[in-house]
Amino acid sequence: MNLLSNIERQEIRSLQPGQKTTLFRAINQLKQNGIYDKFINWHGLAMMTKAGTELFGSIRNLAHYSPVFLPWHREYLIRFENALREIDTSISLPYWDWTIDAELQDPSTSIIWTEDFLGGRNPIQNGLVTDGPFKNWKFSLNIPGYPREAYLRRNFANTIQLPFRRDVELVINNNELEYDKSPWDGNQDYNSFRIMLERPIHNPVHNWVGGTMEEAYSPGDPVFFLHHCNIDRIWANWQRKHNYLDRYPANDQIRDRRGRLIPFTNRNHKMSPWNDINDNTHKRVQQVLDFTQYYQYKEYYVS
Ligand code: ZN
Ligand code: ZN
Repeated sequence: MNLLSNIERQEIRSLQPGQKTTLFRAINQLKQNGIYDKFINWHGLAMMTKAGTELFGSIRNLAHYSPVFLPWHREYLIRFENALREIDTSISLPYWDWTIDAELQDPSTSIIWTEDFLGGRNPIQNGLVTDGPFKNWKFSLNIPGYPREAYLRRNFANTIQLPFRRDVELVINNNELEYDKSPWDGNQDYNSFRIMLERPIHNPVHNWVGGTMEEAYSPGDPVFFLHHCNIDRIWANWQRKHNYLDRYPANDQIRDRRGRLIPFTNRNHKMSPWNDINDNTHKRVQQVLDFTQYYQYKEYYVS
């Protein structure tokens, strides 16, 4: 039995001007009180921590190139949305449907990058974002291998193509795809729903925006949350279309090439860094599979 949530996530372009103002003000409030940078560092730490041993060099980490990629980012977004709603309960996290921008001859001319939205249409000096609601943002980082501080930058890479709607629909409609399968990593030479969503659809959007979005501290650019909200919406659409609201590998099935359990990744594991077993707010992977308990999306790609 599910309680359908009354939180409805919609495309950023369909927000009323007042809703946008409320959202951007709340994000800036999280930035000022230090909570936003805590989110950045959670992501950076998860990304820089290898998960499981690989014979061919480990690229899997606690949040990427792994089955937990989608649940981890879903939980991360729920936490971010909750932090925003503690400031204003009218807020729900919007998504950026970049398939709309993919149709533009030059997607960097999109309204998304104007001062009324995320700013930074014409980044200056090393890609610094100097207009819009997040202008001149600076982060305090605590990520292994990274400098202690950085500025918000973008560097629209017009040599990279944003995913088209038909690419997204093909993955959602594919009846053959399992959620994921061994070797549970970032190799592109096997097919699963997770790898098809993570590599050819999710990755290019980070690379197209460029700058901060290409780093381990990519959530430093608020567009990260809007991009991942759209990625989550695609997963939700696949779950909904095929009635896969509980679809994830069985307990203890996700193991590395030496047969050892990959930590923080199996269905009954808590996800890192929210893995305090005594903290009831820390969810297990299986607790985020059914998204309808937490939110709905206003529109899906495929019905
Ligand atoms: Zn990530
Ligand atoms: Zn990402």
